[in-house]
Amino acid sequence: MITQRVYIRRAVSVIIALLLIVLLPLPAAKAEGEVLLHCFSLGKADSFAIVTGEGTVLIDCGESGQGDIILEWLKQQGIDRIDTLIITHFDKDHVGGAAKVLKKIPVSRVLQSNSPKDSKEYRKYLSALALAGLEAETVREELTFTLGDAAFTVYPPERESYAKDPSNNSSLVTAMRHGECSFLFTGDAESGRLQELVEEKLGQFDFLQVPHHGVWQTQLISLLNMVQPEAAVITSSEKEPEDQATVSLLEKVAGQILLTREGEVDILSDGSSLSVCQEIFAAAA
Ligand SMILES: [Zn+2]
Repeated sequence: MITQRVYIRRAVSVIIALLLIVLLPLPAAKAEGEVLLHCFSLGKADSFAIVTGEGTVLIDCGESGQGDIILEWLKQQGIDRIDTLIITHFDKDHVGGAAKVLKKIPVSRVLQSNSPKDSKEYRKYLSALALAGLEAETVREELTFTLGDAAFTVYPPERESYAKDPSNNSSLVTAMRHGECSFLFTGDAESGRLQELVEEKLGQFDFLQVPHHGVWQTQLISLLNMVQPEAAVITSSEKEPEDQATVSLLEKVAGQILLTREGEVDILSDGSSLSVCQEIFAAAA
């Protein structure tokens, strides 16, 4: 009887385990031919993970102390290395979490912008790079690479420095194309850099990371008329929300506006269309 009970218990355990495998979400973007974009909810700070069938690209790492959130998500997805880490610029809400990420997970390649700044976060990033035996590549010319079915182009700032908002305007801009689906990440580009993007005639994109946490700039009018995104993501916070003028403009040209301050955003591309999923945080009682 005891043996039988053990057997039944084991059989039940196996059934539960099988059910869990079916019920729990499978590792993202593992389905062949799919690409997942995960937009972290970090307040007024940026981090985006792009997971293809072949590997992962991480754009920015949020603030210092937010590296753990990124690492936890990567772990949940079964991701144990980053193929390319892109640091758009060196403001603390973009490079802050990079030191932690570099210390805890292998990174094959690091791309960075040309505008270093002396800050605690930047120094920690440099130490972590050295510790990992990595040398970051400063992008000064248009750079392309592929990862699985996804094709990336990184656009450097066209100037060595900018009189106005030099750090934000030095943002690397990344375009990613997966089949017919296209994505544009703009860092914290402000007027000078936005003007360059419009002049470069980058064209239409299905997804847009709205520049600089949704802060209004007049040049957004030309940029958004060019991009005409199906989905636009803004990384702002309750304390420092996006500008209403930016939202009003997006309402005219974008299919869907998503705020990461309301929850993480997942966008899945099958190469011909996007599926958008956001789990909205429950409102505080
Ligand atoms: Zn920023």
